[in-house]
Amino acid sequence: MKSLIVITGASSGFGAAMAKLFNANDYPLLLLGRRVEKIEALNLTGDVMIKKADVTDQVQLGSAIKAAEAKYGPTDLLINNAGLMLLGNVWQQSPTEWQTMLDTNVMGVLNGMQLVLPQMTERHHGTIINISSIAGYKAFQNHAAYVASKFGVHGLSETVRQEVADKQVRVMLVAPGAAETELLTHVTDDHALTEYEAWKETMGGLTLDPKHVAETVKFMYEMPQEVNIREVDIAATRQD
Ligand code: NDP
Repeated sequence: MKSLIVITGASSGFGAAMAKLFNANDYPLLLLGRRVEKIEALNLTGDVMIKKADVTDQVQLGSAIKAAEAKYGPTDLLINNAGLMLLGNVWQQSPTEWQTMLDTNVMGVLNGMQLVLPQMTERHHGTIINISSIAGYKAFQNHAAYVASKFGVHGLSETVRQEVADKQVRVMLVAPGAAETELLTHVTDDHALTEYEAWKETMGGLTLDPKHVAETVKFMYEMPQEVNIREVDIAATRQD
């Protein structure tokens, strides 16, 4: 039997695409999100556990992982995918929106890593794949807090990679470009949204299909444990 994969933010976008792909390849899955009904609507069959978990709540996240591990054995791959992008310039955006992004995009990733690393370092086996962004190494106007959060994901991923490398545990990072998901639906600043849409038009409106991110993640994970594809940038060919 294949080992357990945990995916945060499985209710839409990249997370749902990864859930479908790994399910089609017979991996036991723990699929997490706050909107469990959206995960259920994926209609996946086989070894799939669905739990409500907010990544900012480490206790809730931990009890979901514990329940899945009791059934399927230790988590061998954690995909820290849950994330949020709220756009706006710094002199107008609400600090509440900054806090939500930092809590979800940074604290959420740290919460997940801390929960699975003890057993992974003990077993000398396991992989964490953090979904960052091209905004994790490149600035974009109207993205200050999002960029800060994703630069954070890049930094913490490389730090932890170094910390656990000698335990044969892999930390990997994927930095996607713009994709058609629900990410933009939470943006409250209409002006920033219009500017983002105009930027997408400079690429002929073409963006990544989430299924290509899912295929990339699967390829990275299925490399032998002694090989660590540390970072992959993936974007629509026309993205600048
Ligand atoms: P979606 O909005 O489609 O998906 C985001 C997922 O994160 C949802 O499943 C949502 O589930 C979950 N989520 C958000 N907040 C929380 C929370 N507090 N606790 C648990 N789950 C949460 O966007 P994407 O698929 O695009 O985003 C996935 C990742 O990819 C994010 O980290 C994003 O930053 C990154 N990314 C996206 C890009 C894009 O252009 N789409 C480009 C580069 C990176 P629910 O609401 O049910 O909890």
